[in-house]
Amino acid sequence: MALIVQKFGGTSVGTPERILNVARRALETQREGNSVVVVVSAMSGVTDNLIKLAKAVSPAPTEREMDVLLATGEQTTIALTAMAINAMGGKAVSLTGAQAGILTSGVHTKAKIENIAPRQIRNHLKDGQICIVAGFQGQTLEGRITTLGRGGSDLTAIAIAAALKADLCQIYTDVDGVYTCDPRVVPEAKKIDIIAYDELLEMASSGSKVMQSRSVEFAKKFNVPFEVRSSFNNNRGTIVKEEFIGLENVVVRGISIERNQAKVTITNVPDRPGTASRFFTALAEANVVIDVIVQNISVSGSTDISFTMNADELEKLGGLIDRVASDVGAGEVIKKSGIAKLSVVGIGMRSHSGVAATLFECLGAGGVNIQMISTSEIKIAVIIDEERIEQAARLAHEAFGLSA
Ligand code: ADP
Ligand code: ASP
Ligand code: MG
Repeated sequence: MALIVQKFGGTSVGTPERILNVARRALETQREGNSVVVVVSAMSGVTDNLIKLAKAVSPAPTEREMDVLLATGEQTTIALTAMAINAMGGKAVSLTGAQAGILTSGVHTKAKIENIAPRQIRNHLKDGQICIVAGFQGQTLEGRITTLGRGGSDLTAIAIAAALKADLCQIYTDVDGVYTCDPRVVPEAKKIDIIAYDELLEMASSGSKVMQSRSVEFAKKFNVPFEVRSSFNNNRGTIVKEEFIGLENVVVRGISIERNQAKVTITNVPDRPGTASRFFTALAEANVVIDVIVQNISVSGSTDISFTMNADELEKLGGLIDRVASDVGAGEVIKKSGIAKLSVVGIGMRSHSGVAATLFECLGAGGVNIQMISTSEIKIAVIIDEERIEQAARLAHEAFGLSA
């Protein structure tokens, strides 16, 4: 008898009919002789609506209350899913994150999982019950409700699979698996049969929202292989696992895009030790995640520094950067939104040359101007105008032969 963890995302539980579909799948899996744990998200749109409701009553709700509110989305789905299974003659029990034993840090709205004690899950499984666990939520040692960041049900599923040493972890979503690019952007994108943790991690953290990036990081750390597949059909999905033979034969595995970025350029920054740290320490203290950073060569004792971040975060910063610039005696601060990032990812890049050349050539031929470039061992990313991002994704997809 195998132990199987199945996670269903928002669209897959978006209507009563779809919840019934999830119930049927879980029952079928159990009737094939397996123990089944199902992790569910809030019904599609519910979490966004809860955030809107909060903003309607308070301009800056406390994060503690935000988590109490957001956790209700998943709590609705676990009860409905368990009811559906019971109505079909099966045996199911719903469990909140806390009841499932998910212990987290106290950083509300982006808590980290610190421990999982799945005692209740184990007991219910022993009784032949299907356990329906609320994704995205946990509890602190003091009993405060927390959430794990947007898309966090993926993390719940992977973490529970790790804690229970499950034989199989399946992530059911509204596409057939991980594609070479978001199929909504590049219709020719192809499903990837097998991908390494590191590749999906780079894709997820550079905008491919098919999996929450923290969940992939967790899967890599605890070596939890999983499958991403559709809840609407029985097609085989994408297997995500550690590196495998033949991995390096494919140079580019996939392309990610990330919209809604902003670029800040500070001109005439005095070129002396410690100046850059003044800016980035202030930004770190404001909890802002900085992405690409470029510093120009120094001309007559001063230099220009540019960096990118999420556009909403820049807005929240107000005049912080301008104040630091004035303190250190720098020149102008130029802020530009309406930019986006395109990343090409593949472990094969480690052993192949010419990837940057191919990327820059295809973007150049399409008249797409590159504003910044950043690279890692397995990724090349460019910052471009947001209005060009879909065109750029299609150009790169074609240039790397990903539709073939
Ligand atoms: P769920 O609600 O099941 O968690 P998400 O909306 O979080 O689903 O993720 C699925 C969506 O991710 C797809 O509908 C697709 O538009 C988007 N997506 C972005 N990049 C990719 C990619 N490379 N492969 C597949 N889907 C992707
Ligand atoms: N409901 C949460 C969200 O919308 C978590 C999830 O769906 O994974 O972000
Ligand atoms: Mg998701």
